Amino acid sequence: MRSSSTAKKSRAESRAVRQLEAVRRAVAPLAPPVSSFEASIRSTPFRILVSVLLSARTQDPVTEKAAARLFAMADTPGKMALLSEAEIARLIFPVGFYRTKARHIRAICRELGGGGRVPQTLDALLRLPGIGRKSANLVLALAFSRAAIAVDTHVFRISRRLGWAKGDTPVEVEKELERLFPRRRWNEVNQVLVGFGQTVCRPIGSKCPACVLRKTCPSAQPRGIRR
Ligand code: SF4
Repeated sequence: MRSSSTAKKSRAESRAVRQLEAVRRAVAPLAPPVSSFEASIRSTPFRILVSVLLSARTQDPVTEKAAARLFAMADTPGKMALLSEAEIARLIFPVGFYRTKARHIRAICRELGGGGRVPQTLDALLRLPGIGRKSANLVLALAFSRAAIAVDTHVFRISRRLGWAKGDTPVEVEKELERLFPRRRWNEVNQVLVGFGQTVCRPIGSKCPACVLRKTCPSAQPRGIRR
């Protein structure tokens, strides 16, 4: 006979998977910016790595255009290493922190060397300049289809609103989500929740009355969350 804690975990997992599926179906027709962005960067691991680096603290449509300008000039570490830092900064402007990101991109190109192979482990990715945990997990998921949950601001906020996680830091939330969802679902969490956060469960002015989860979400508000 299954223990009560196992049964409880299984119920929580089933509910979370159902909610994730419901959100995926509801968000798809809304065409959130993240869908177009992720479709645009699905190519080589190197391009995915650079696009993910550019996307930090930058809106997806801005990142998409900046990445297109940069890759039109250089789309491999070897070619990109020939560009000066100032040239990269000019090409990627106006992404957030474009000067710092230009410096990191050049350093990454030097680090990857002639082979240009992007590392395929979290630890190795984290050693690259400018690549934090969220970005590393995103690269693992998008470039190598590895099971990874990238906890950005949308995933952090929505997981807590839905009661999927209680953690105070992105790493704590990442670990809670890893325990909650079956491994084969990990890759979906970021893409589904980012699109949801861009369109419905927004940081300010969430659209709770129209939300597909309004009946099961513990944070639902009759007029949406205002702050
Ligand atoms: S009901 Fe409101 S807070 Fe809950 S998931 Fe939907 S939009 Fe977000």
